[in-house]
Amino acid sequence: MARIYNFSAGPSTLPETVLKQAQAEMLDWQGSGMSVMEISHRGKHFSTIAAELESDLRTLLGVPDNYKVLFLQGGATAQFSHIPLNLLRGKTKACYVNTGAWSVKAAGDAARLCEVVISASAEAHKFTLIPPEKDWLLDSQAAYLHYTSNETIHGVEFTGVPDAKGLPLVCDMSSNILSRPVDVSKFGLIYAGTQKNMGPAGVTVVIVCEDLLGEVDAKLPDVFNYAEQAKNASMINTPATYSWYLVGLVLKWLIAEGGIAAIEKKNINKAASLYTAIDTSTLYSNPVRPDCRSRMNIPFVLSDAGLEKAFLQEAEQQGLMELKGHRSIGGMRASIYNAMPIEGVNALIDFMAEFERTH
Ligand SMILES: *Cc1c(COP(=O)(O)O)cnc(C)c1O
Repeated sequence: MARIYNFSAGPSTLPETVLKQAQAEMLDWQGSGMSVMEISHRGKHFSTIAAELESDLRTLLGVPDNYKVLFLQGGATAQFSHIPLNLLRGKTKACYVNTGAWSVKAAGDAARLCEVVISASAEAHKFTLIPPEKDWLLDSQAAYLHYTSNETIHGVEFTGVPDAKGLPLVCDMSSNILSRPVDVSKFGLIYAGTQKNMGPAGVTVVIVCEDLLGEVDAKLPDVFNYAEQAKNASMINTPATYSWYLVGLVLKWLIAEGGIAAIEKKNINKAASLYTAIDTSTLYSNPVRPDCRSRMNIPFVLSDAGLEKAFLQEAEQQGLMELKGHRSIGGMRASIYNAMPIEGVNALIDFMAEFERTH
């Protein structure tokens, strides 16, 4: 059986070596005589998996000691409400920067729990750019400033960390975590669902500065309370054990690849090749302003939308799958996370050129 190239935005392609290791360990994890799926989350075997998961993530991202690392459930979507529930700390407002579909959703959920100040919005530009920071409206009374470092649907990515002017900075890094170096100490909280760039679905990583914890409404259930989750090593209830294990394998793969600095070089290369192919063609175009373009999710349209169906069909015949754009904006999208090899990107570029020539 041949593996295809999977350009899905998430759940997304995983390193083949990780899948093979999981396969080899499926029936007997390291001499335990059991699958990881079958063992107690409170037993000694799983404790090893959990401890390595956290320490590998801390190493890769350089997480400072005064930050808690949590592995939660409910996806990044659950965090849209859990963040205000934990971080408002008696305040009544929070600032949000709207740069695409995901930040808009995060702000929408927060608006049920507090007054949302839209510090900036790129909606009038159809989310094709990041509004200049100098124009952002930052309210000093707000509990935090939220932004989305990579907009998975619109293909817009921050290159640096915004200046929150003293507000705790909260970032949804679901679709670009571990793809480029990041200074965690600049953030109050970072969160990410694992199914884009860290592993399979089922885990949401929350990295949060201890200073922000411990001031929540007494009605907040413990499972949603970061301080309680931290006290209980994210095991107030049964975690998604097999997903934790697979995320752990992906982190070990990334370390073996040379870590984030090494993978960033590859990501820069892959994205540059694909954008060049798009920009130099007359059939394809990407609407995002070049300095705001994502390295991870690359949407593009065909100048003749009538060719889209043929494009997707012929791509699939070449083993290039999941290129259909998000249903909300249409067109095409190639997601090229850490685990997408350069060979996959080159195969896509070759196919696009050939399709343009023959149509
Ligand atoms: C996929 C995604 C989400 C939603 O993740 P779920 O795990 O499905 O809740 C949120 N934010 C961003 C940036 C995403 O890419």
